[in-house]
Amino acid sequence: MQDFSFPAPPTAPDTAELRAEVRDFLATELADYPAAKRIRSWSGFDADFSRKLGQRGWIGMTWPKEYGGHERSAIERYVVLEELLAAGAPVAAHWIADRQSGPLLLKVGTEEQKRSILPRIAAGEYFFCIGMSEPDSGSDLAAVRTRAVPVEGGWQVNGTKLWTTYAHHAHAMILYCRTGSADDRHGGTSQFLVDLTLPGITIRPIADLSGARHFNEVVFEDVILPHSALIGPEGNGWAQVMSELAYERSGPERFLSTFVLLVELVRAISGQSSSDREVEALGRLGGHLVVLRRLSRSVAGMLQNGSNPALQAAVVKDLGAIVEQEIPEIVQQLLATEPDLRSSDSLSAVLGYAILNAPAFSLRGGTREILRGIIARGLGLR
Ligand SMILES: Cc1cc2nc3c(=O)[nH]c(=O)nc-3n(C[C@H](O)[C@H](O)[C@H](O)COP(=O)(O)OP(=O)(O)OC[C@H]3O[C@@H](n4cnc5c(N)ncnc54)[C@H](O)[C@@H]3O)c2cc1C
Repeated sequence: MQDFSFPAPPTAPDTAELRAEVRDFLATELADYPAAKRIRSWSGFDADFSRKLGQRGWIGMTWPKEYGGHERSAIERYVVLEELLAAGAPVAAHWIADRQSGPLLLKVGTEEQKRSILPRIAAGEYFFCIGMSEPDSGSDLAAVRTRAVPVEGGWQVNGTKLWTTYAHHAHAMILYCRTGSADDRHGGTSQFLVDLTLPGITIRPIADLSGARHFNEVVFEDVILPHSALIGPEGNGWAQVMSELAYERSGPERFLSTFVLLVELVRAISGQSSSDREVEALGRLGGHLVVLRRLSRSVAGMLQNGSNPALQAAVVKDLGAIVEQEIPEIVQQLLATEPDLRSSDSLSAVLGYAILNAPAFSLRGGTREILRGIIARGLGLR
C-alpha cells in the first residue's frame, strides 16, 4: 500500500489581504458579467482577462522571479484560484499553462525553454493545450500512436490528437507521443513543446453536447519539430505525464465547476423560510466542499514540496466530480425551475448549462473508473 495520507496544508502568511485584493478586482472587472457566463467556470475563455491577471502577478505565482514568476506560496496561489472560480471568472485562456504546462517546463524543461516560454505564460500572453488523448487512446494513454521520428534537424511528427481543449486558441501544445518501440509502452514515449502555427498542423473544432466548440481534433502531418522541442529526456514521457496529472487533478477547479449554480440556489431559497429539505441539502453540500478544500490544499502543499501525490490527486478529482455533478441534480429536486440554456432567467440558464456539461466532469482529466482503479491500487486492493 502506498502512502495515502493527506498532511496538513502548509501554513501561509496571512492571506486575507490578498483575498480582499482579488475580490475587489473581480467585483470591478466582472461587474457586468452575467451568471449565465459565470457558470462556464474555468471553461470561460477571455484572453484580455488573462492578460489582466498576468499584469496583477496572479499567473505563475509560485515560479522563480527569474522566469517571470512571483515566488509566492502554493497557498497564496490557492487563494487566487478559489476566488476566481467562486466568481466564475473566465480563466480558461491561461489555466492549463499556469496549472501544468509551466510547472512541467520548470521541472524538466531546458534553460532555453524556461527562459523563452515561462515569462510569457506568467504575463498571461501565451496559452497552452494538452496533447495527450487520441482517437483510440484516452484512458489507456500508453497506447498513443502519434509518433515522432528523428530526422535531420529535429523530429517529424504524424498522428491525431483528440478532445484537445482550446487548441484553436492556444499558442502551443505539450505533445505526448511515441518515439520508441510500441512494445515499450511506457519507455517508448516522450513529450514535445509544439508551436501550433507550424506547417502540417490542422485544428478542427468539435461541438459538445450543448453545441459549444471548446475542444478539437488536432492532426499532425509531417510536422517538423526542432531538436530543442524535446521536453526532458527522450523516453521519459510516461513518467513526466504521470507527474503532470497530479497538477491536473487536484486543484479547486475539480470541485467548483458548478459553484455558480450553488450560489444561484442559495439566492433562490434565501429570503423565504427555508424547508428542512433545503437546509439539509445546503448543509450537506457545504460540508462536502469544506472537506474537498482541505484535501485539495493538502495536495497543493505536497506539490510545493516536490512530491508526486498522484494518488491523493485522484481522490480529490473523483470526490470533487461527484459533488460538482450532484449540485445540478439537487437544484432540480429542490426547485421547479425549467433548465434552459437560452433562457433570460438567470437560474434557468445556469441550470441548463450545468446539466449539459456535468457529464463531462467525470470524463475530462481521467474517467471515474480509471481514478478508482488508481485509488484501489494505492490501497493495495488490486
Ligand atoms: C470536456 C473534456 C475536455 C477534454 N480535454 C482534453 C484535453 O485538453 N487534452 C486531452 O488530451 N484530452 C482531453 N480530454 C479527453 C479525456 O482525457 C478522455 O476523454 C478521457 O481520458 C477518457 O478517454 P476516452 O474518451 O478515450 O474514453 P475511453 O478510454 O475509451 O473510455 C471509455 C469508457 O471505458 C472506461 N474504461 C476504459 N478503460 C478502463 C479500464 N481499464 N477499467 C475500467 N474502465 C475503463 C472509461 O472509464 C470510460 O467510461 C477531454 C475530455 C473532455 C470530456
